[in-house]
This record gives sequence, structure tokens and C-alpha cells, in this order.
Amino acid sequence: MIRGRTGDWDVVVGLEVHAQIVSESKLFSGAPAAFGGAPNAQVSLVDAAMPGMLPVVNGRAVEQAVRTGLGLNAEINLVSVFDRKNYFYPDLPQGYQISQYHHPIVGAGWIDLEEGRRVGIVRLHLEQDAGKSVHDRDPRRTLIDLNRSGVPLMEIVTAPDMRSGAEAAACVAKLRSILRYLGTCDGNMQEGSLRADVNVSVRRPGDALGTRCEIKNVNSVRFVRLAAEFEARRQVAILEDGGDIEQETRLFDPDRGETRSMRVKEDAHDYRYFPDPDLPPLVLEREWIEEIRDALPELPDEKKRRFVERYGLNGEDAGLLAAERETADYYEAVAKERDPATAANWVTGTLFGALNRAGANIRETPVSAERLGALIDLVTDGTVSNRLAKDVFEIMFETGGDPAQIVAERGMVQVSDAGAIEAVVDEVVAGAPEQAAQFRAGNEKVIGWFVGQVMKATGGKANPKVVNGILRRKLADTAGIPPGRETR
Ligand code: ADP
Ligand code: MG
Repeated sequence: MIRGRTGDWDVVVGLEVHAQIVSESKLFSGAPAAFGGAPNAQVSLVDAAMPGMLPVVNGRAVEQAVRTGLGLNAEINLVSVFDRKNYFYPDLPQGYQISQYHHPIVGAGWIDLEEGRRVGIVRLHLEQDAGKSVHDRDPRRTLIDLNRSGVPLMEIVTAPDMRSGAEAAACVAKLRSILRYLGTCDGNMQEGSLRADVNVSVRRPGDALGTRCEIKNVNSVRFVRLAAEFEARRQVAILEDGGDIEQETRLFDPDRGETRSMRVKEDAHDYRYFPDPDLPPLVLEREWIEEIRDALPELPDEKKRRFVERYGLNGEDAGLLAAERETADYYEAVAKERDPATAANWVTGTLFGALNRAGANIRETPVSAERLGALIDLVTDGTVSNRLAKDVFEIMFETGGDPAQIVAERGMVQVSDAGAIEAVVDEVVAGAPEQAAQFRAGNEKVIGWFVGQVMKATGGKANPKVVNGILRRKLADTAGIPPGRETR
């Protein structure tokens, strides 16, 4: 909802997400589909559209599309058709892109956003990517790299069900999470493996859908939000000034945080779609689809629910831990035979904090789940205090070292020996008659201050539980001072 000068406006967002399929080879040829090869090193005669070359569909890519459809709770169409989408572009040597139009491989489905908001999936279709025009290598010429030509893509189209930029961003994040769990797209938005076309319109609450603009190729979750928010405000400003929205394709400029017109939207008939005569209809067997369904992994929503039920986590922590398969596996390895809440605190608080500061992801963590578990065990069995354990963790994060060894080598072992602690407590209590009086006068909070002093004096090594017990005993002892004196 946007509060405009003349009243409220609904924001409406629908997404078209292009996801590169995890597959060794291209959609219609055997050339490698990997990212980052030397220019034009991964181009077969089919990808270069040499006359007379015939496309052969990549079965693995089809399987991945089916798997994705099942992960999106969608209908799988037993018969789908490859169409030619005709347009001219220098990096499209065929003069058309092979895509699916009237009969996509996957039909309607849905995904749930975090807030329990459901977004409809309209369809998922297979298509080949185009090559790349390189404008910045040569001052006078545009160069063509066909490595990407023919790379298998899934285009996933949502219904216009999102109502804010934040929801649109959440939808892309959720989709990305599901695809990564399924292993059907690596979700790498910097490399362009996942990019979103963001369709935005605004309307008065209760009105029919307004005219939309499509913001092409947005390549980060944050930019999806920013682009949709900017675009909605732009449209509201135009409408409130009495103008009309022209349906057009726009670009998001992250440096300026704004969208800019690219071209007026072409209609489907401009592409002259027709079935590719080189490719027969794609016919799938129900049994094969069911085999893929049976082998689906546990997906993030399911995992989150299980984390809440099995480990008693709150929804927020469970969602955070379940968002990535690697994070979830890491957490479960730490939580195994340990207190699940303590494990969740360490992972979402301490580990995620350190990873964020280092700009690293869970796959790059220098602290393995096994070693974080060992550290937690050292706290549980009293070897190291909770406070010093944080320092041990930082050292582990820097060096990848073993917690028991770090604790031993650096003399960080917790002191639980009553005699040693008692001496320090005596000193602290003797040096703080005022605070002792406050405690005896019934101020419970002062005990925390005393514990802090003792911890400081022992370099954080004293066992706080033992300190607490001894302090209470000592302070009560000194309460033997005749009444009257303490209140002076
Ligand atoms: P086309 O056939 O022209 O590509 P679609 O109806 O398939 O149009 O919609 C394309 C995308 O635009 C979908 O993601 C859909 O959710 C979104 N969309 C459609 N109408 C609107 C609208 N009025 N506002 C925002 N998004 C919309
Ligand atoms: Mg479309």
C-alpha cells in the first residue's frame, strides 16, 4: 500500500524468473553449459545455428524442469510443445529462440512466502538462452560470445499476487531457496543464473488491475524490492498528476536506484510463435514423473516445520536455519545429541554473525559443525565459561583450530575450584563495602555487579555459577554485622 497525495494505492507485482538449469550440457546440444569459459569455447554447431543442424532435447534438463514443477506444487503436463519465438538480435544466430508458449511443460502451482502468503505459479517453461553481446572489450566493435547460446533455462511465471516490493523480494528469495534445495538451479544471481523480470502496477484498493510495466533482468533480491518500490511510486506520481501508465519494458539502475524506459512492450504476435518443426512434442510418462516426485528432497517449508516441531525452535530461527540446505545440515549436525536451543543460538547468532562480518557463506565456514559442537560440549561440561567460549569461537573462526586445544593452549580453562574463587571473592567483597551493604539491604541486582567484578579479576575464567554461590554465602556472612550499622 502506498499513501499518495490523493489517497491510498495498492501495489501489484508479478514475476517472471529465468533460472539456469543445473545440467552438464545445453538444452539442444552436447556443448558444456558451464559458466565462465573462454569466449566461444563452448559452442557446438547447433548453438552457432549452422544451416541444417538439428536440435536434440537434453533429457536431464527436462527432468530438472519436472523436478522444479513438482517442488512448486505444480501440475506437470504430459505433453508440451517447443515453439520458435522469432526476433532478430546479433547474439541470436538462429533468428529465433526455442521456447514453449501455448503448451509449457509445467502448469499451475504455488509457493508460500514466510508470512503464510501464497503466491500462484502460472507456468514454468523450458527455453534456450541467447548469446552475449560484449560492448566493452573493443572501443569500436561489439563482440559476440555464444557460450551462453543454448544454455537451458526455466522461465517461471507467477500470478500478480504480491502486494509490495518486500513481498516480491521474499518471493524471489523463496524461489531461489527451493531451486537450490532441488538442485535444479544454483541460484547465483551475480553470475546471472537467476534473474527476475519484475512486473509492477498500481491501482485504487478494490479496482481491477492497472497497466503494468516490466522491469527486466533484476539480478539481486534487494534490487527486486528497490525496483518494485521505485516503480510503484513513479506510477502513483504519474496517475496522481492525471497521466496514464504506458505498458513498457524498463531497466533498473542500481547506482541511481531508479527505473528507466527501455522499450515499449512488444506483443506476443510480434514474435510469430509457432511450433518448432525440428522438435516433436515432448511426451512424458506419468510413472517417470512419480519416480521424480518420490525422490524429492525435504524442501525448506517442510524442514522449517520439522525444526519447530522436533527441536522446539521459534519460527524465525527455524526459517533462518532452513533457508539453505547447507545451513540446515550444519545445524542438525550441531544439534545432534545436544540442546537444540543452545545449538540454534550458536549457529544463528555467533556463527552467522561471524560469517556476515567476513562476507562469507556457510560453505566457506572455517568452523566445522563438528568443532562448533565440541565447543558447545566444553561449555556444557564446565571446561570453559560461556563468555570465554565466545572468544574461543573467534579464535576458531580465524584459525580453524580445535576448541579443546585452543582452551588448553591459551589457559582459558574455567576455574571451578572453590578455594581459588573464594580468595578472589573475599578480595572483591572487602573492597566494596557500599555494594555489600546495598545487597544486604535487599538489592538483589548488586549480585550481578559482584559477579562481574570477580569475572574481571579472573580474566573471565571463573565459573559464574560457583562465583555466584560463594558470593551469596560471603555476603550473607558479612550480614552478621549488627543491624543498624549497615544502614548508615
Ligand atoms: P504476457 O502474456 O504479456 O507476458 P502475462 O499475463 O503472462 O503477460 O503476465 C506476465 C507477468 O506479468 C506475470 O508475472 C504476471 O503476474 C504479471 N502481471 C500481469 N498483469 C499484471 C499487472 N496488472 N500488474 C502487475 N503484474 C502483472
Ligand atoms: Mg511474458
